[in-house]
Amino acid sequence: MDMNENKRRRSMLLYILIAIIAYLAISQALGSGLTASRVQSVTYTEFLNMVDDNKVTNVDLNTGDNTLTFTTGEGDSQKIYETTMWPTDDTLIQRLDEHGVNADANIPDTSGDLWLMLLVSYGLPILFFLGIGWWLNRRMKKAMGDDGPSMNFGGGFGGGGLGKSNAKEIKGEDTGVTFKDVAGQDEAKESLQEIVSFLKNPEKYNEIGARCPRGALLVGPPGTGKTLLAKAVAGEAGVTFFQIAGSAFVEMFVGRGAAKVRDLFKQANEKAPCIIFIDEIDAVGKRRDSSLSSNDEREQTLNQLLSEMDGFDNHKGIVVLAATNRPETLDQALLRPGRFDRRIPVELPDLAGREAILQIHASDVKMEPGIDLGIVARSTPGASGADLANIINEAALRAVRFGRKKVTQEDLLESVDVVIAGEKKKSTVLSPHEKEVVSYHETGHAIVAAMQKGSAPVSKITIVPRTSGALGFTMQVEEDEHFLTTRQEAKDKIAVLCGGRAAER
Ligand code: ADP
Repeated sequence: MDMNENKRRRSMLLYILIAIIAYLAISQALGSGLTASRVQSVTYTEFLNMVDDNKVTNVDLNTGDNTLTFTTGEGDSQKIYETTMWPTDDTLIQRLDEHGVNADANIPDTSGDLWLMLLVSYGLPILFFLGIGWWLNRRMKKAMGDDGPSMNFGGGFGGGGLGKSNAKEIKGEDTGVTFKDVAGQDEAKESLQEIVSFLKNPEKYNEIGARCPRGALLVGPPGTGKTLLAKAVAGEAGVTFFQIAGSAFVEMFVGRGAAKVRDLFKQANEKAPCIIFIDEIDAVGKRRDSSLSSNDEREQTLNQLLSEMDGFDNHKGIVVLAATNRPETLDQALLRPGRFDRRIPVELPDLAGREAILQIHASDVKMEPGIDLGIVARSTPGASGADLANIINEAALRAVRFGRKKVTQEDLLESVDVVIAGEKKKSTVLSPHEKEVVSYHETGHAIVAAMQKGSAPVSKITIVPRTSGALGFTMQVEEDEHFLTTRQEAKDKIAVLCGGRAAER
């Protein structure tokens, strides 16, 4: 299909090129007249002098373009000249008569030329632009589907396929991700398992008349593995995976986003069974409002998405998964049954989840024996799966930087600091006095924490400035995870926080 498109485009360009060259050639020929090279041009004064010298034998007055062709000499020595006639020279005929020059007036029939001229100077450019218009129109129609607007130059040239969805398409076997690659998130996996089983054999569901969810909404903070889960569903079921970001639908020109949605579902229909994954769907699925600032393009795109979701043949096995961090901003219509009727929370991992995620990613890098990932998991409460993957990678990078072949425990702990507090900031040089103040401050936190029974043990104190802006920090690592905070624990925490300033004083 692409090759045909290319061929057609190339031949179109060729036509345009030929038309331009023909236009230039013809107008050049007509404009300058087909002047034979043996005709010599002279000035009018020279011509008069030659008449006076009795050199001129024959004169041809050409009233059409006000030129005058004349000859000198006879036989072999005859020469042909051309000059432009003096428009107000009434004495010319008399002078020619006096010198016995044979004169002839030539009133040309220019009507044929005139028509050709008109055709070349007006007709060709018009044809040229009509050609371009027709060409653009066809491209536009093809991109929009045949019911798209018939003429719209907004898109201009360039960029393959206006209105094409540009979704990333991965074949099922090639996603390379299964549920085994997703650590924790057991509830989410369980919910998605049903979709996998439906995609694997839809007949079982169709037989009993069960309707599989058309869409599921993965809700959770960034980096918690929503994309990974969606890919894993495709990988488990062995179906094609289409991935597109919600923001990719938001276009400058009204109607183009909707065209992209249409194209996406058309593609999906051809490749069914398949998964369509729309990342950050809030970019396109925001609640519609009737305020003046409403965005026509976005609404049209959302409407198209809703109607496509209603319209596709569910028995074919197309499941739309979408991810968002802000479900509350979504249009209610998206959440109605038959659309994204299933909401799957994807939360930040707990302690066990963090350790499991670290283990998955650690298996990809070479580690020294006896590494304790548990302490890394304990020192990273609130970290997302993406943060943890990043910690392992940072540790590996650090090992390479120090010329080691394997990652050490120190690499890991250092990269925890990097991911939590940022890189060490070499450009910030503290004065001895400032260093002293920061030392007292951090030691204050640490001593208060150490003196308490309920506080987590202090695992690290540092006064190295970090790119996050911290001049130092005291790290406490909880032994285990708990979900409630008692009044005493809260008081202890406040005391630890105030300990820094108290020590400075
Ligand atoms: P989201 O789509 O929620 O923003 P991603 O799925 O893109 O997050 O996750 C980013 C990366 O973080 C993944 O490619 C993976 O390496 C890592 N990751 C996140 N969650 C997990 C998890 N539960 N198990 C393993 N790796 C994870």
